[in-house]
Amino acid sequence: MVDVFRRIGEKAKDLGEKAKDLGEKARDVTKEVTKRPSELLEITRLKIELSKLEKEKENNLNGIGTLVYQKYQGKENLDQEIERLCQQTKALEEEKAKIEEKINSFQPRPLICPDCKWELPAGGTYCSFCGKEAKEAEEVKEV
Ligand SMILES: [Zn+2]
Repeated sequence: MVDVFRRIGEKAKDLGEKAKDLGEKARDVTKEVTKRPSELLEITRLKIELSKLEKEKENNLNGIGTLVYQKYQGKENLDQEIERLCQQTKALEEEKAKIEEKINSFQPRPLICPDCKWELPAGGTYCSFCGKEAKEAEEVKEV
């Protein structure tokens, strides 16, 4: 009798382990699924950052233009300010390049059609130029 209870107890423990396994698997799947939306969020954040930098760069270039014209008109002691704005703009461009690189690293490279070298649309299945299937294109590219 005690034996039966022990066996039932072991069985229950077994089932418990299995349930835990399933729970972990379910969590793994959830991780897979939630990966993409967070990537999209990150890309969106980076793109907002990028447009901010672009605006800043435009402002700087406007400022430089104004200063250069003032200098042309004979205003003095502007060189330092022009130099400062140029340096700042260059730094902004470097920052922009870094962010663009990051955004590109998130997005898979588009496939190239093996026949006509046409760049296939993102997520597209067929070459929009000659109609060859993108899947084939990928296989050929790997060879
Ligand atoms: Zn093609």
